[in-house]
Amino acid sequence: MKQTDNRVESTLLRRINERRLLEAIQRHGPSSRAALTRVSGLTAPTVSKAVDTLLKRGLVEELDPAEPALGRPGRLVRMAAASAAVLGAVIDAGTCCVVATGLDGTVTEKRTIRFATPAGYPALLDAVEEACRTLIHSSGPVVHGIGLSVPGLINERLHEIVFSPNLHLLDKHNPARDLETRLGVPCVLVQESDALVLGEWLSGDARGLDDFAVLDAATGLGLGVMSGGRLLAGHSGMAGEVGHITVVPDGVRCGCGNRGCLETLATDAALVRLIGEKLGRTVSLDEVAGLLHTRPADFQHELRTVTEYLAIAIAAVINIFNPTTLFVHGVLLAGTADRFARVVERVKQRALTASLADCTIVASTSSKRQGAVAGIIHHLTNACAPSLG
Ligand SMILES: [Zn+2]
Repeated sequence: MKQTDNRVESTLLRRINERRLLEAIQRHGPSSRAALTRVSGLTAPTVSKAVDTLLKRGLVEELDPAEPALGRPGRLVRMAAASAAVLGAVIDAGTCCVVATGLDGTVTEKRTIRFATPAGYPALLDAVEEACRTLIHSSGPVVHGIGLSVPGLINERLHEIVFSPNLHLLDKHNPARDLETRLGVPCVLVQESDALVLGEWLSGDARGLDDFAVLDAATGLGLGVMSGGRLLAGHSGMAGEVGHITVVPDGVRCGCGNRGCLETLATDAALVRLIGEKLGRTVSLDEVAGLLHTRPADFQHELRTVTEYLAIAIAAVINIFNPTTLFVHGVLLAGTADRFARVVERVKQRALTASLADCTIVASTSSKRQGAVAGIIHHLTNACAPSLG
């Protein structure tokens, strides 16, 4: 082997080690160099060298332990929370938000800006840019990048949102590329269901899990799947569109143009539509939440319908992907303990017994905001080196 080959090989190896340490810190939280040596299986000098490089690149920072152990206390290495920042932007039907956090991914309301989704693409881009600029100016530390959670189909080969059934103003656009040009900060596009998966994986209840799925039953019915520690993408990144399986061939028109898609009957938006139809007027999600709380008996039929179809969706995901945990994201059904318990009860009627026995169904506690942030942190981690997993 030539000397240059050796050099390339050792550089790649170093970067793979750096990535391995970042993943260990994300999985285990703030850790001493000794602990990182233990969990990574690398030698102590290799860990020290890699940590030094990550410190120089501003991705991690050191701090003194709260309660020093006996003897010489080891400083802890954590994802850079005070000295570096990332932004997460959520583009959604109705409301958008942008949040600034450290690389530890802790989101706070104080550093979140919310605004109503503008009606056209140029106005949307202006609004997201303005919120990002406000947060970048008030952040202080270096902003490493911005993660953008978006609804719809992202074609990774074409680098654009090819089709967004519930927010058509995004069709044929790439807001991450456009924002990067305007702000000069690296931006990545993350499909919102994948964002929820990464949010659960990096800072939620899926830490350490390699096979799990998140079913988002809020506006559309989105699915993100982590399989063997990798996000399921398909050929162009468009896999997982469970929401557009036809369940009622002559049903109501879906945002995708088809009729009777599963997402027209299994989501918060479906329940809002059905209750609006019953009342003969337009209602908001908040109003429906109130009505279901004060007059649940009046909407039994609508509740039963959406409960049934959400159970069918959950069962389909369990049967097809065999996850160890399925997180369900939503407000009206997944966000209320007794209604969610009824959904889970109905899943037992629909899923294969053996597949269901393998799987825990839980309500997701993560958010798209958390997911957008996780998307950029995941991207920065991946940018170190390819995964060997
Ligand atoms: Zn559809």
